Amino acid sequence: MALHDNVGVGDFVLLNNINMESFIDNLQLRFKAGRIYTYIGEVCVSVNPYKTMPIYGSDKVNEYKGREVFERAPHIFAIADVAYRTMRRIGHDTCIVISGESGSGKTEASKIIMRYIAAVTNVSGHQEVERVKNVLIQSNCVLEAFGNARTSRNDNSSRFGKYMDIKFDWKGDPIGGQIENYLLEKSRVVLQQPNERNFHAFYQLLFGGSDAELRQRNLTKSPEAYFFTKQGGISRVNGINDQGDFKTVNSALKLLGLQESEITTTWDQVGAILHLGNVALIEDGETAKISSSSKTSTDSVAKLLQVQASDLSKALCERAIAAGGQVVKKNLTSDQAVYARDALAKALYERLFNWLVKRINEAIKPMEMQGYKGTVIGVLDIYGFEILETNSFEQFCINYCNEKLQQLFIELVLKQEQEEYRKEGIEWQDIPYFNNQVICDMIELPHQGIIAIMDEACLSVGNISDTTILHAMDRKLKHHPHYSSRQLSPSEKTLTHDRDFRIKHYAGEVTYNIGSFLDKNRDTLFQDIKRMLYKSKNPTISGMWQDGAQDITKTTKRPQTAGTIFKNSMIALVKTLASKEPYYVRCIKPNDVKSPTLLDNERVEHQVAYLGLLENVRVRRAGFAHRTPYEKFVQRYKMLSSKTWPNPARNVMKDATSMILHDTGLINDVKFGTTKIFIRSPNSLFELERKRQAM
Ligand code: ATP
Ligand code: MG
Repeated sequence: MALHDNVGVGDFVLLNNINMESFIDNLQLRFKAGRIYTYIGEVCVSVNPYKTMPIYGSDKVNEYKGREVFERAPHIFAIADVAYRTMRRIGHDTCIVISGESGSGKTEASKIIMRYIAAVTNVSGHQEVERVKNVLIQSNCVLEAFGNARTSRNDNSSRFGKYMDIKFDWKGDPIGGQIENYLLEKSRVVLQQPNERNFHAFYQLLFGGSDAELRQRNLTKSPEAYFFTKQGGISRVNGINDQGDFKTVNSALKLLGLQESEITTTWDQVGAILHLGNVALIEDGETAKISSSSKTSTDSVAKLLQVQASDLSKALCERAIAAGGQVVKKNLTSDQAVYARDALAKALYERLFNWLVKRINEAIKPMEMQGYKGTVIGVLDIYGFEILETNSFEQFCINYCNEKLQQLFIELVLKQEQEEYRKEGIEWQDIPYFNNQVICDMIELPHQGIIAIMDEACLSVGNISDTTILHAMDRKLKHHPHYSSRQLSPSEKTLTHDRDFRIKHYAGEVTYNIGSFLDKNRDTLFQDIKRMLYKSKNPTISGMWQDGAQDITKTTKRPQTAGTIFKNSMIALVKTLASKEPYYVRCIKPNDVKSPTLLDNERVEHQVAYLGLLENVRVRRAGFAHRTPYEKFVQRYKMLSSKTWPNPARNVMKDATSMILHDTGLINDVKFGTTKIFIRSPNSLFELERKRQAM
């Protein structure tokens, strides 16, 4: 719908035919011409350009600042601006939901939005607001250092979901924020696929730490020396400067208000995890013990965590269990000990990450405003739908998250449209759409949903395994149209493995392997480990492990499972988003080789399909391309009729609107609502804009 952009159509609603072919053709045409943004109404479709674009400077900021979306060429700034202006105008919270698959540009988009908001606010240069803006922006590099990693799909892939509220005062200046993080992929700490790395932080410390910093932690500069950083066979990544990033992260940590000792502790824990990966556990008769060659590594772990080496060794090789009010010691096998070691590494890292988020939140905590609640813009940068070679518990959670967001998208986009028509008294026929509620229910309903079935299996005693869960799911879901498994459909070719089950997601079918679901859902961390860390002489570490203070003979309550925690956080997230006025950025990855010139039709088609973009265009087209209050319409177009220029005769804006539309010959393409004029075709709007500019 936008002007000044002569390549293809700037709004997919303007396509002559709404089908996959013309959609892709338009995207292709625009991508080749460097137009990476295209609208569907107020939804912004963004294609990753894989090159630096000269379109984010202050000249562009000024071009978009305070303008209507349709007045300028499509740009993500326009979405940021409308979210900001709407929030200010009606005093209602807004949010921007950014979605798309790995490498499609979500995180970059969220940073561009933040920078735009920073650029258009605080015109009076208030010092505290400047500080807040700075902290908000600087927090990104800390989150990325600890939460991002190189994967086969993206050199800087976010391995956690992030939702950030930016809070504004009555003047519209940012005064703080709040970050919520979701499901960090902590299995990466102990296991990396070929050609992938662990989280950036590990390499930043090894490549960026000074000789003294490394010596203090008994570390060498080489990631190849550590099991937890050498598995992927890649230490350095083109375009990533770990050494420089280490410095940037440290200054950001300082800016966030971390004490020197806390920063040291942060890197001590990263170092401890590296050493922990090199602790070999061997079988000694029936029981596990730390191999004698690992003594140095073990001592380094103990020293960096400030715990007793003997406690560490016990925590890895033994388990205390409560039996009849007594604590009994049980020796672990070497397999169990390796499991305990990895669980310790993952838990240390996860708590460190959560602690950093907590510290960031403290630094950006909005100041109290007397008698004024403030308004917020929420920005959601969360993992897109994922189908890998082998799909496990993590993909199950990620894809469930996308089902929830799709639900919200359908509900909000349709609900919003349809409710507005109703409110304004415009005749309207509801558009049918696939409601994926049935899939959400299959996953999340109490007692009958997959998460509940998993939990039930995890809670039962006795000899249970991953297949126990699978059998329980088969029993309960055998008639469900969106579920199948090898057991239920033995003839299906794509279900090749006995441990496979399949969910028909809204975005396509995904086969999951049940292996390790039990473990990942239970997410057990033994009390011995918590207790050891609680007893750490380092107050920061001890503070992160307060739950280690519990006496195991008294802890009867089972901790919530990972699945249930995730489910609850998704339900809360959807509730938060639904209470705000949403804007969408839909990101598309043009190809798998990071090329700035190639738009791979097949790959893009798939993304367009699962982002539901064609449906989106159809819904948008069935309705009205544009609606605006009479007063604003007259204000903008009154020069187009001699009856309304320079001022409409009587102050009745509805009549004035009608006069303008008569005189411009567009009266047959509109409907008059109670307070707003509805313009059906985007071409009419174009026409108005063109005439206005020609005056
Ligand atoms: P993930 O889900 O793996 O976190 P993502 O959708 O967040 O992926 P990004 O990390 O934002 O993807 O983008 C991947 C890479 O693509 C960036 O590191 C950058 O090189 C490039 N890129 C993305 N968007 C832009 C842009 N607007 N301009 C220039 N380069 C971009
Ligand atoms: Mg990302």
